[in-house]
Amino acid sequence: MRSDSLSFNKQFSHIYIEEDAAGFPLTERICSFFPHAEKIFVQSYKEIFSRPRQSYSAQVSSRSLILAVKKDGLIYEGSVMCHDFDQRWFYYCTNVLNCIYDCEYCWLKGMYGTANLVIFVNTDDFLKETERLLKEHPVYLCLSYENDLVPLENMTGLLKEWAEFTVSHPNLLTEIRTKCADREIWKRMPVSDRVIPAFTLSPDTVISAYEHGTPDLKKRIEAVNTAAEQGFHPRLCFDPVFAVKDWQKLYTEMIKEVMTNTGPEIIRDVSIGTFRLSRDYMKKMRRAFPFSACVQYPYTLKNGYYGYDDELRKTITEFMTNELMKYISKDKIYTLEDDANE
Ligand code: SF4
Repeated sequence: MRSDSLSFNKQFSHIYIEEDAAGFPLTERICSFFPHAEKIFVQSYKEIFSRPRQSYSAQVSSRSLILAVKKDGLIYEGSVMCHDFDQRWFYYCTNVLNCIYDCEYCWLKGMYGTANLVIFVNTDDFLKETERLLKEHPVYLCLSYENDLVPLENMTGLLKEWAEFTVSHPNLLTEIRTKCADREIWKRMPVSDRVIPAFTLSPDTVISAYEHGTPDLKKRIEAVNTAAEQGFHPRLCFDPVFAVKDWQKLYTEMIKEVMTNTGPEIIRDVSIGTFRLSRDYMKKMRRAFPFSACVQYPYTLKNGYYGYDDELRKTITEFMTNELMKYISKDKIYTLEDDANE
């Protein structure tokens, strides 16, 4: 798999299409993107996506794509385990379930247990539901939450549509979280201060060890700069931070590399978080990935979530905050410790 812009050659040789999804413009667009894929009609996406006893490891090198219509649960309230960036009305959207990348620590593996992807093609219903919420209050909506939409953008065009929708709805703020380094996408997107490109950044050692299929740090930094050159104010997400061997040195060098090659003036804000995962997802992932160091680490269980113990978590957060404050003011730095103390 190429890491700068994903090659779908071996992926999606089969596309399952819910009968209700036939005829939607997005279904047509995606099918024409894969003219040689075998198309199989099904009654419900769950027949494929939610089949019991699937093996992520067996599916990951030849994922199937499922096109479906989402009938309910279009927009959800954001989790307390995620940064809300002081936004009162924090929601996330489920246009796509699952991700083309293969991060070892990804909670989606615990949630779904399959490598297959679902794309919901009834985009208008997602937009209408957002409009309904906007009649009640402002909305902060994370678009890439159970997925990474950026590497799928050439196939779906979803982000451009959401960005245009955001521009025309003044009370809407959207975040696009990504590890993708495709720079062209940002050149095609309407620019707005209410559309936040949010780049997750890690040291190359962590990328190589845990974030399989994702671009290296240098390419991600180039994408940050491209988004900024277009007029966006990118968010930088140092999340999750891992206490790997020599983590202080690795993260110090990474922050220096990021900040000296971007510039604090272009950065909207930054977030810091350490690894955390719900008990149920961890249980499933430990069973499915017995040789994954980041999953098998003896984390501490607290309030239903596994993570580093309080002392190490605070040490990491303080360390990262202090390193970042060499380049950027404290009021631009968000930590989960802040959220917990609010
Ligand atoms: S990029 Fe994000 S959503 Fe995708 S596999 Fe990695 S952690 Fe999961």
